[in-house]
Amino acid sequence: MKLDTNRKTKIAQAVADALISHTDELTELDSAIGDGDHGHNMKRGMEAVLAEIGPLAEKPVGEALKAAGMQLVMKVGGASGPLYGTLLMGLGKSLPDEPVYEDLVTSFGEAVDAVMARGKAEAGQKTMLDVLVPVLEAMRAGADGLEVVKVAAEAREATVPMKAERGRASFLGERSIGHVDPGARSSELMIAAVADALGGAL
Ligand code: ADP
Ligand code: MG
Repeated sequence: MKLDTNRKTKIAQAVADALISHTDELTELDSAIGDGDHGHNMKRGMEAVLAEIGPLAEKPVGEALKAAGMQLVMKVGGASGPLYGTLLMGLGKSLPDEPVYEDLVTSFGEAVDAVMARGKAEAGQKTMLDVLVPVLEAMRAGADGLEVVKVAAEAREATVPMKAERGRASFLGERSIGHVDPGARSSELMIAAVADALGGAL
C-alpha cells in the first residue's frame, strides 16, 4: 500500500471528521467521569492538523505523523493531547511510505508502547489503552479492517464495568464504574476512521 499525498490527506480528513462530528458525545462521556473537555480537546487538535493538512501530507509519512503529533501535544489541553501526540509520533518512527501489513503492526506496537510509557499506564485501567491494546493484539493475529473495527467497539464497551486507575476519572474511584471511558471512545473513532479510509487495503 502506498501512502501517497492523496491517501495521507484522506486518512487525516477521515479521522478529523470522525472526531469533530462526535464532539458532543465525547464531551458528555467526559462530563460523566471527568471535566467535560475531551470533545473540545480533540476538536481543537484535529482543527490544528487540518489547518496544515496541505504541507503535512506532502511530507514522508514518518515526518507527517511526527508533525501532526506535535500539533496535538501543543494545541490540545488535557491528558489526551500529549498521549495522542505520543501515539502519532510513535507511529511515525518506523512507518515506511509503502508499508505492508507487518509494518503497520510493528509501528502501531511501538506507538502503543510509547503511550504506555508516557502515561505510566497499561490495559485494564479504563483509558484509551483499553481500546489500543486489544486492537494491537487483533492486528498481531492478522485482523482485517472490519475485524479491527469490531474489536475496537467491543473494547470500548468493555471499559464500562472498569474502575478508572489513571487520569482524572481515577479521582472518582468506584463512581467511575458504569461509564464508557471518553479516551476509549475517541480511540475507537480514530481507528474505525483509519480502517474505513484504508478500505480493503488493511
Ligand atoms: P483530561 O483528563 O486532562 O481532562 P481529556 O479529557 O482530553 O484530558 O482526556 C481524558 C482521557 O485521557 C481519558 O478518558 C483516558 O482515556 C485518557 N487518559 C488519561 N490519563 C491517561 C493515562 N495515564 N494513560 C492513558 N490514557 C489516559
Ligand atoms: Mg477531560
